[in-house]
Amino acid sequence: MRVAMISEHASPLAVLGEEDAGGQNTHVAELAAALVVEGHEVRVYTRRDSAALPESVSTADGYQVWHVPAGPARRVPKDALLPYLGEFGTWLADTWRRGGWTPDVAHAHFWMSGLATVHASRRTGVPTVLTYHALGTVKQRHQGSRDTSPPGRIGYERALGRAVDRVVVQCEDEVRELVRMGVPRSRMAMVPSGVNQEVFHPDGPAAPRDPARPRILTVGRMVERKGFLEVVRALPAVPDAECVVVGGPPADLLAADTFARRLSALAESCGVADRVRLVGGVPREEMAAWYRSADVLVAAPWYEPFGLTPLEGMACGVPVIGTDVGGIADTVVDGLTGDLVPPRDPRALSTAIRRLLADKVRRFAYATAALDRIRCQYSWKRCAEQLGSVYAAVTAIGRPVGVVA
Ligand code: UDP
Repeated sequence: MRVAMISEHASPLAVLGEEDAGGQNTHVAELAAALVVEGHEVRVYTRRDSAALPESVSTADGYQVWHVPAGPARRVPKDALLPYLGEFGTWLADTWRRGGWTPDVAHAHFWMSGLATVHASRRTGVPTVLTYHALGTVKQRHQGSRDTSPPGRIGYERALGRAVDRVVVQCEDEVRELVRMGVPRSRMAMVPSGVNQEVFHPDGPAAPRDPARPRILTVGRMVERKGFLEVVRALPAVPDAECVVVGGPPADLLAADTFARRLSALAESCGVADRVRLVGGVPREEMAAWYRSADVLVAAPWYEPFGLTPLEGMACGVPVIGTDVGGIADTVVDGLTGDLVPPRDPRALSTAIRRLLADKVRRFAYATAALDRIRCQYSWKRCAEQLGSVYAAVTAIGRPVGVVA
């Protein structure tokens, strides 16, 4: 099939770790590559956020990335992109209508891509699939007045759940949220993300470390909800261990990052500054070495739509302590492949970390069971196959041009 993937702010070619570049970028890149292996023809459409970008790029993985002119050709924060999505959708419709390459199905990633895709679909009849990746209701609940999402996001997300032909969900928690929003379960298909096991596996180089000091690793964008503050607060009750934080801007720009400065100040006031190391963002190719260097991976977000980092850690044979939220509640099996603790609870976190660091046999058992789980359930091939079935189902429905769903 010809598959169009629309990912308005998250380019598969972006450098990760910065505020708006994380799991969605990885997801789109890996999924596009896996769909190509399954025999599909894939074009990813993302916003042109630099005048230096060419109109299209052919990747080594066999898919193309198209840079859509919508809004200024410079970085614009994700939460300020809404005004340009109509332009984005019109460009898609015009391009697909011109012929040459008209997709059989359009798969949108994130609600704003969903808006552009539905706009294009109504003009072209291309069937649509949507993966939300994150939901406004959840963000609002956790961030309250600090949520910078455009007003109306929740209403748009609710409407999209009915306007698209299928919603791809990634975890049980997301199903419950969507049902509460009034999206019928029958419109949803459960297809969790995968992990690239050629990149993330236990055998390979590890980042240098002090063998005498247990290493706790935590990974993610430098935002409060990733739970780094709670990990640092847990550290005084975990003697001797060092805490390595990977993510955020590159190392040379960390000092200018507001959140990184807040994290360092907290480490200072907790008396653990000498045991906390902020590495900054690293290229995707270096991530596996960081995971392998750790005794335990702590993923402590307040909420998490899916959470690729726990999966990547598991695939590298590292035991995971995660918060019992979102996708982590599905991927980490408590007491079998890792430990789950309540979110925003440094005391529970420190107890779990202390216990696991003191128990080599448990760490080994978790790592072994986690690897089995990854190999059986979380390949991108499985993901691409399941999505192939979803695409086949929606293309069979047919969708006359101009009909509003
Ligand atoms: N990542 C990376 N470099 C970094 C930090 C993170 O390549 O310095 C990658 C990480 O390996 C994972 C993604 O960014 O693939 C983060 O995805 P996750 O789902 O954990 O979080 P999100 O960013 O989507 O909230």
